[in-house]
Amino acid sequence: MNIVIMGPPGAGKGTQAVRLAERFGLLHLSPGDLLRQAVKDGTELGRKAKDYMDSGRLVPDDVIIALIGERLREARGGRGVLLDGFPRTLPQAEALNRMLAESGQKLDVVVNLVLPEETAVRRLTGRRVCRRCGANYHVVYNPPAVEGVCDLCGGPLYQRSDDTEETARARLEVYRKETEPLVAYYAARGLLRDVDGTGGVDEVFGRLAETVGLSA
Ligand code: ADP
Ligand code: AMP
Repeated sequence: MNIVIMGPPGAGKGTQAVRLAERFGLLHLSPGDLLRQAVKDGTELGRKAKDYMDSGRLVPDDVIIALIGERLREARGGRGVLLDGFPRTLPQAEALNRMLAESGQKLDVVVNLVLPEETAVRRLTGRRVCRRCGANYHVVYNPPAVEGVCDLCGGPLYQRSDDTEETARARLEVYRKETEPLVAYYAARGLLRDVDGTGGVDEVFGRLAETVGLSA
C-alpha cells in the first residue's frame, strides 16, 4: 500500500505519519526530514537546500524528485511507503506516478488533512523538535515531561529556523499557490480522502487509520 499524506505546513503530517507508518508497516519518507539531516551533516544537498528552507520556499523539483526517487528504489519489495511532504507540486506528482510505475506499483490513497490556517500557524510557531531523534512536540498541545528535553531519547529540543510566524505564513502562501492544486489533481483521479485535522493527536489518528484502512 502506498499512501500520500497531504495538508498545509503544521497540519500534523509528520506527527501522524510516524504513527500510521508503524500501524500499517510502511516506510515513512519525508523530504523535509531528509533535507534537515543533509543540512546538519553539511552535505552538498544540505548546502543547496538550506536557503530555500530558511525562507520557506520549495527546494527545486529536480533535487526533490532525485532524492525521493532514490529512496523509492531502495524501498522496492517492502510493504509500501507513506509519503509525507511529497509531492508538493504538479511535476512532483507526475514524477511520483512514473517512479511507482517503474516498479509496477501505484498510489493507493491520498489523505488530505484539513484545518483552519490560524490553527496551522499556532501549531507551527509552538513546534519543538528533538535534535537527536527528530521526535516532535508542541509547547502547549504536546509538551515534553521536562521542558526542552525529549521524552523518548533525552535529546535537546530546538525550534526549527522556519517556524517563526513570518516564515510560517510564507510557507502557507507557498502551499496555497503550489501545493493546493494537487487536491483537485488527486480528487479527479478518485484518490483523495479529506480528513478533519482539528482536535487532538489521537482523535486525528483515529480518523486517519479508519480512512486508510477502509481505502486499502
Ligand atoms: P506538519 O508535518 O504537517 O508540518 P507536524 O506533525 O510537525 O506538522 O505538527 C506541527 C505541530 O503541531 C507540532 O508541534 C505537533 O506537535 C503539533 N500537532 C500535531 N498534531 C496536532 C494535533 N492534532 N493537535 C495539536 N497539536 C498538534
Ligand atoms: P517540511 O518538513 O515538510 O515542513 O519541509 C520543510 C522545508 O523543506 C519546506 O519548506 C521546503 O523548503 C523543503 N521541502 C520539503 N518537502 C519538499 C518538497 N516536496 N518539494 C520542495 N521542497 C520541499
